[in-house]
Amino acid sequence: MNDLRLAGLKTTRSTIEVKGITIGGKEIILMGGPCAVESSIQMSQSAETVKQAGGKILRGGVFKPRTSPYSFQGLGLEGLNYLVKAAKEQELLCVTEVIDAASLELVVDEVDIIQIGARNMQNFELLKLAGKSKTPIILKRGLAATIEEWLLAAEYILEAGNPQVILCERGIRTFEPSTRNTLDLSAVGVAKELSHLPVIVDPSHAAGRRDLIASLSKAAIAAGADGLLIETHPNPAEAVSDGPQSLTPEQFIQLAAELGVVAESVKRVFTFGGIGDTLEVLRTQIDRVDQTIIKLLADRMQIVQKVGDQKRLDRVKDTNRQNEIIQRLSNLAAELQLPPDLVKRLYPMIFEFGVQSQIKSKLAQDQVLESALYTLGSK
Ligand code: PEP
Ligand code: MN
Repeated sequence: MNDLRLAGLKTTRSTIEVKGITIGGKEIILMGGPCAVESSIQMSQSAETVKQAGGKILRGGVFKPRTSPYSFQGLGLEGLNYLVKAAKEQELLCVTEVIDAASLELVVDEVDIIQIGARNMQNFELLKLAGKSKTPIILKRGLAATIEEWLLAAEYILEAGNPQVILCERGIRTFEPSTRNTLDLSAVGVAKELSHLPVIVDPSHAAGRRDLIASLSKAAIAAGADGLLIETHPNPAEAVSDGPQSLTPEQFIQLAAELGVVAESVKRVFTFGGIGDTLEVLRTQIDRVDQTIIKLLADRMQIVQKVGDQKRLDRVKDTNRQNEIIQRLSNLAAELQLPPDLVKRLYPMIFEFGVQSQIKSKLAQDQVLESALYTLGSK
């Protein structure tokens, strides 16, 4: 690819610096928000979600390149004001898509990053115009573009004078109909091998369905992505566009809470919870931990029941084993700076409920057995 004169690999990777945020550095940058800007309140709520999650950039389309001319086309300038205001309220940066020269001119000095969408990846005149601006650009991969075509599109922007290009893999069209597009995660590695530009991943437009977003996001980080662009809406059921692929605020925050360990496993960093230790953020974190505790207790109970099914009724309670567990967990608690008394008081209760459920399940089994024997005997 000799024509990748500027996009081709240099000795060092490029980072894009925007108002104190570095894209392409060690930190994974989370960007989120609705597909389309719909109202001021929708944008304020979205900004709050992104901030709570530790996201840095608010997205929202105000000029929507829709497949059908009858679909919602975006709020235009009015929407741009909602996006910019909501981002400011939460001290986030913002990004929106441009579709032509007129929309570029309208937004270029208002937003922190411009997006050129998949459908415009080879709109060469738009690429050249965007290349004349000083605003960083997220360049999405075209619906059916090869990696080479995608990088050559980036080359247009670079060649026109704007070095701040962020590549975004957003799924390509394949023969597979179960997802909206097929997320090409190998493209992250290939694009990074061929070029020095940062690469982010948009799992939302790739999957087209919200149930896959969390796993694809984690996979993207593992694959080397420098950031994620994810759609979230305060009420996806009411979204004017892309509702089925938009995460609820809770899902978006939950996903963000899980990204740190994935980032760490590939020597990157993601810090959950952007507002620092405010009461609200801390409470959200506590709520999430509490949910996990209850889910784990439910898992424990199920296993205990299975154990009970293998024992005779008179052997359901095993005091020695209970003492052993308490001893072991008290030691662990002490190591983790927790008062060992917490284990000593909590666990007898957990055991008690476990034994009760074992007895119940055993009695139910005995009853089934008895009635089966009775039926047999009466024959
Ligand atoms: C978008 O991000 O809103 C969008 C339209 O994405 P794409 O260009 O990837 O389809
Ligand atoms: Mn969308």
